[in-house]
Amino acid sequence: MTIMSVNPATNETIETYTPLTKDETIAAIEKADNAYREWKRTSFEERRKVVSAYAEQLRERTDEFARMITLDMGKRISESVEEIEFCAEIAEFYATNAERFLADQPMENVDADARIHFEPLGVLMGVMPWNFPFYQVTRFAAPNIMAGNTVMVKHASNVPRCAEAIAELFSDVGLPDGVYTNLFIPSEFVEVIVSDSRVQGVSLTGSERAGAAVAALAGKNLKRSVLELGGNDPFIVLEDADMERTVELAVQGRMVNAGQSCVAAKRFIVVEAVADEFLERFKEAMSALEMGDPMDESTTLSPLSTEDAAVKLQEQVQASIDAGATVLLGGDRPDRDGAYFNPTILTDVTPDMPTFDQELFGPVATVYVVKDEQAAVELANQSSYGLGGSVYTRDKERGRRVAEQIETGMVFLNQPTNSQAELPFGGIKNSGYGRELSHLGILEFVNKKLIHLG
Ligand code: NAP
Repeated sequence: MTIMSVNPATNETIETYTPLTKDETIAAIEKADNAYREWKRTSFEERRKVVSAYAEQLRERTDEFARMITLDMGKRISESVEEIEFCAEIAEFYATNAERFLADQPMENVDADARIHFEPLGVLMGVMPWNFPFYQVTRFAAPNIMAGNTVMVKHASNVPRCAEAIAELFSDVGLPDGVYTNLFIPSEFVEVIVSDSRVQGVSLTGSERAGAAVAALAGKNLKRSVLELGGNDPFIVLEDADMERTVELAVQGRMVNAGQSCVAAKRFIVVEAVADEFLERFKEAMSALEMGDPMDESTTLSPLSTEDAAVKLQEQVQASIDAGATVLLGGDRPDRDGAYFNPTILTDVTPDMPTFDQELFGPVATVYVVKDEQAAVELANQSSYGLGGSVYTRDKERGRRVAEQIETGMVFLNQPTNSQAELPFGGIKNSGYGRELSHLGILEFVNKKLIHLG
């Protein structure tokens, strides 16, 4: 296997890394387990110091880390900067609130002195994707380190510079050896780790395929798991939506990270009364995107993460076209170097087409026209995914009614699904299970121990 940093804007290889051997991987588990014995005994104050220092360093060195993200996976530099700033917020959020979230909870309505006492579990494994290389890791590592667990991370093989930088940063701010471990390993070695009796749980963010493989390993070895997988989020436009703003948000929601976000808006479901207006404005706004070097601040459309990703997206789009979908915009790749894909809008996609229920990870929007609100809800729920979604209407009560009927883990009114440190994040159905961020995120890998004192 190859662990390589390849700049997707040029397809030039920047650096290659040597993976760990199996013995080195096992030695790393030993180290993480030894570190756990000490770390679990530290006070919240000691943990807070280190995690706050991590946040502070992210703020101080934002540009340096942002450049690493852009070079590893091609994100627009301004989005990379936002990602680093958001990581600082998440780390600070858990540094500030972990002690409160994990304070003993006396049981109510019980005729005894009984309480829930929260304790760390031990060594945890994180398997992470490339699309938000600092954010995905931080939202897993910060709460768990604050809870007293130790974490080992196998990052995606195309973002090694980011993976290494995160580990170095934790070390620089004084986190003891073994509390955070970066593992340059092939995905086959995940089994070695999850099946090791010293490892207590695994959190994976990635595709359904990887999620199913890791969940099977966790099940076989009776380990806790959290899965944050793909999505095919509906973006529902009702006739009373503020159309100008809705179209702006539609572009923003679809084009975040060049369309490579699990919670990007992917299926635009528009009631027929406003469909023509939406399509016309949406096409105009998508056409205005400027493809270019992601390091250049004026670029509004960056390349995809890798050449393979662009090739796969082209195949998916072509399969829809071959099956009868209409191309309103784009549909292909530009004639230039790098992993670029033209902004694309497809209509007339029907449930019998292979891509209907697939996640399109790139700048490709599928627009569906439906009769009314009820038909919009039904189509939104016709998906094997259940991650996020959003509804656009000026009527808040109507928005709430629609939101309650959408079968996903998150629904937003008049804004695309997004992530905030204090809000729970996660899905249902094939989008996975468990929650990250908020107070729920820190409760996934702790022992909720009942202490009954009579
Ligand atoms: P991926 O191919 O599933 O890879 C994710 C991670 O899993 C990588 O570290 C990968 O390692 C590893 N992996 C792959 N197959 C594995 C296996 N059989 N056993 C153990 N580990 C394995 O996904 P991706 O392409 O990087 O990420 C995109 C996907 O992630 C999309 O579906 C997106 O929607 C989803 N995602 C979900 C969320 C969420 O919070 N719900 C957030 C972001 C992304 P290698 O790189 O070495 O293959």
